[in-house]
Amino acid sequence: MAGSLLSDAGQRLEQALKYTTISEDAIESLKFPQTSLTVSIPVRMDDGSLKVFQGYRVRYDDTRGPGKGGVRYHPSVTLDEVQSLAFWMTFKCAALSLPFGGAKGGITVNPKELSRMELERLSRGYIDAIADFIGPDVDILAPDVYTNAMVMGWMMDQYSIIKRQISPAVVTGKPISMGGSLGRESATAMGAFFVIQSMLPKFDRPPETTTVAIQGFGNAGAILAELLYKAGFKVVAVSDSQGGIYSRGGLDIPSIRHFKESSRRIQAMYCVDTVCHTTAEEVLTNEDLLTLDVDVLVPAALENQITEANAANIRAKMIFEVANGPITSAADHILEANGIYVFPDILVNAGGVTVSYFEWVQNRSGLYWTLEEVDQHLKHRMVQEAENIWAIARDLSIPMRTAAYVHALCRLGDAISAKGTRDYYLNGR
Ligand code: NAD
Repeated sequence: MAGSLLSDAGQRLEQALKYTTISEDAIESLKFPQTSLTVSIPVRMDDGSLKVFQGYRVRYDDTRGPGKGGVRYHPSVTLDEVQSLAFWMTFKCAALSLPFGGAKGGITVNPKELSRMELERLSRGYIDAIADFIGPDVDILAPDVYTNAMVMGWMMDQYSIIKRQISPAVVTGKPISMGGSLGRESATAMGAFFVIQSMLPKFDRPPETTTVAIQGFGNAGAILAELLYKAGFKVVAVSDSQGGIYSRGGLDIPSIRHFKESSRRIQAMYCVDTVCHTTAEEVLTNEDLLTLDVDVLVPAALENQITEANAANIRAKMIFEVANGPITSAADHILEANGIYVFPDILVNAGGVTVSYFEWVQNRSGLYWTLEEVDQHLKHRMVQEAENIWAIARDLSIPMRTAAYVHALCRLGDAISAKGTRDYYLNGR
């Protein structure tokens, strides 16, 4: 298992293995990604020069269905990182019982340095390079860091041109006008909201007396902040990459979202706009936000935010991971020893891929759902799987993260065994 993220994820897997009876063949077949593709993408730049970018698509495991995973555009994208993310997707899809395997893609590029035309040529060039490797029944793409509905639209169009047939189901997270699903944009936050709402009563925490701090005020964090605010929770702190704001009595989240959309910075509202005087009491750093004495902490920004270095300072009672991998495995042990309950990313942020699944279903059936239908199906799936994982954690007295991996591993193990393993043949199972 190469790469720090993948080896960290591997440690979580090792812990979960103790609690399953999954066959050795199944464990062996999950050790490495099934297929890893590296491609070179030549792009004619606006100034006439030619630039070649490196792209990747990894299918980690497709025993439970076609690969499913986003495409990331970032200067730090490497094959190792894409493999790690594909590994996570495999477990996330299994934990939520989605009929998909895990996959991921990426291009090593800083998209902010490209014009929109260059970005389109790069996106179409990526599909030209991987077209034989993807498909609605093979491997389905979606947005990830620095890719969005517009990019997904170009990708779906390019794939359709190559295949000479309209193929909306090869990509999810598309524009609604090209077969995208209602509710996809808010799906991650909505999914996290349903998990929080279903789990808090177990800790006897009514919304009105529950304080929440959220790190990251982007697509996932800001929408979740507003959902919690509207449900009566006291969201006392939020932050973005520039810093955060805090109010003991609770922040006025709709005003902050409005302000952020116009100013692009949360902190800018402090003592610049009248709203700040009525809502925010203090400016605080991201480090301060993580260590606030709150009931619920939601990391919704980046990976590796809570590590061995700061885990001992965390005072929240519960953490709901909306970001992928915000807590390292070393930090997990410290949090657990301090009695802090962690709800893991592969459950909490799975609303995005779940609604991607709904989009794929709608594309293939040709029948499109209302927003109410999407949210209702999402709620059902998130609450049901959160309860399943909760029951495993309770019955085995293990952390929710280990329970989520146990849950996913059992489904993966069953599927791998059903295909035929040594145990399957020997025991006639
Ligand atoms: P985004 O780009 O919309 O927002 C990210 C936010 O984090 C921004 O507000 C940014 O300012 C803030 N940020 C960046 N660096 C920070 C720092 N050092 N400290 C505090 N805040 C910082 O991204 P997003 O789509 O909201 O995704 C956030 C996280 O959720 C990522 O880890 C992503 O992988 C995960 N996630 C998102 C989705 C989804 O559908 N959006 C699905 C699953 C997982």
